[in-house]
Amino acid sequence: MALTTINPAMPAWVERRIGDDLRDISERVSAGERLSFEEGVQLYRHPNLNAVGYLANMVRERKQGNKAYYVRNQHINYTNICNKFCKFCSFYAKKGGPDPYTLSLEEVRARLLAHKDVPITEVHMVGGINPRLPYQYYLDLLKTVKSVRPGVHVKAFTAVELVEIQRVAGKPMDEVLSELMAAGLDSLPGGGIEVMSDRVHAELFDRKINSREWMEVARAAARAGLTMYATMLYGHIETDEERVDHLVKLRELQDETGHFVTFTPLSFHPEGTEIEDIPHPTGYDDLRNLVVARLMLDNFDHIKSFWIMNSPEITQISLWYGADDVDGTVHEYEITYQDGEQGNKRQVLTQRQMEAIIREAGREPVERDSLYHPVKKVIEKEHLFMPLPVIQPVDSGQTTQQIGL
Ligand code: SF4
Repeated sequence: MALTTINPAMPAWVERRIGDDLRDISERVSAGERLSFEEGVQLYRHPNLNAVGYLANMVRERKQGNKAYYVRNQHINYTNICNKFCKFCSFYAKKGGPDPYTLSLEEVRARLLAHKDVPITEVHMVGGINPRLPYQYYLDLLKTVKSVRPGVHVKAFTAVELVEIQRVAGKPMDEVLSELMAAGLDSLPGGGIEVMSDRVHAELFDRKINSREWMEVARAAARAGLTMYATMLYGHIETDEERVDHLVKLRELQDETGHFVTFTPLSFHPEGTEIEDIPHPTGYDDLRNLVVARLMLDNFDHIKSFWIMNSPEITQISLWYGADDVDGTVHEYEITYQDGEQGNKRQVLTQRQMEAIIREAGREPVERDSLYHPVKKVIEKEHLFMPLPVIQPVDSGQTTQQIGL
């Protein structure tokens, strides 16, 4: 039986591929209407990823055309000492895992200077919850970045870190945010909640803040005038319903505050975690999460495929499955290790590599700043990286528990 045309711009072969079971959703996406919780679950479970991906690509191109954004950034993970012991985390110092460290301000300065020849526009800084760090450390951390790179945008501290910073500051959150902003904080990276589900919270990260507390921090950030980014860690024990519920909660919060710019689904890396028997999400699942996010989060301008978590290869494909951003050059990243290799923190794509993978995927690369303003394009010559300063682990060989946190 011939299908009724649901979108004049949609070729007949696409309508056939989309099929009757996606007809309602397809019509609503074409009309720019908001999808329901039930439709979100349907999108996660629909067997034809290409059909769902086609709809996500329609929205992606409606919002961002052929552009694919990247940023020249540097990540700094200032401490891996953490007293939250999240079961999904391989980053924090523990027996059989990474040695504990906390970067001194001089070491932060050295890391920044190691890439001083690269015109980085953003420094992304997050770490563990190290209760030995005083409030002044966080203020000085921000001031150090701004002193080495005066014009850079500093995206730092997840909500769980901010709750800790508030604890050591002993002041209201609004006041703490205002002082951090005066010291150099420009935006918040999201993270710190993983999936907004009380069940997952109880099973995987019960020492960390819950959804309600995370939302309170997000609202405080909006009141302070801070831009924020949002994430979801998927591929561990969460259900499709919990994924969709997380997206709907973010969508409602964005309706209220309007301060989120980008959503990034983060692919779980089980290596070195307490739940490493859970298999790594497949490329199929990585694409599925981008696609559903693009279709559900109608009030988010950007969906990011973080190439470190998703691999450059999946990220290329993702540019046709809802994603319009690939994150950045990164340089060093310690939350997950390249190929699961502990201690290998050098994870970098140069600007040329970034542009090449985007062009090969058939998209137009656009260097952006943290707020998606295009950066005047100057293709740098391939720089040689200075050797990274060696960071001495503190209390080497001890676990976080042994050093009494
Ligand atoms: S995810 Fe964050 S809060 Fe949890 S253990 Fe790892 S570093 Fe600590």
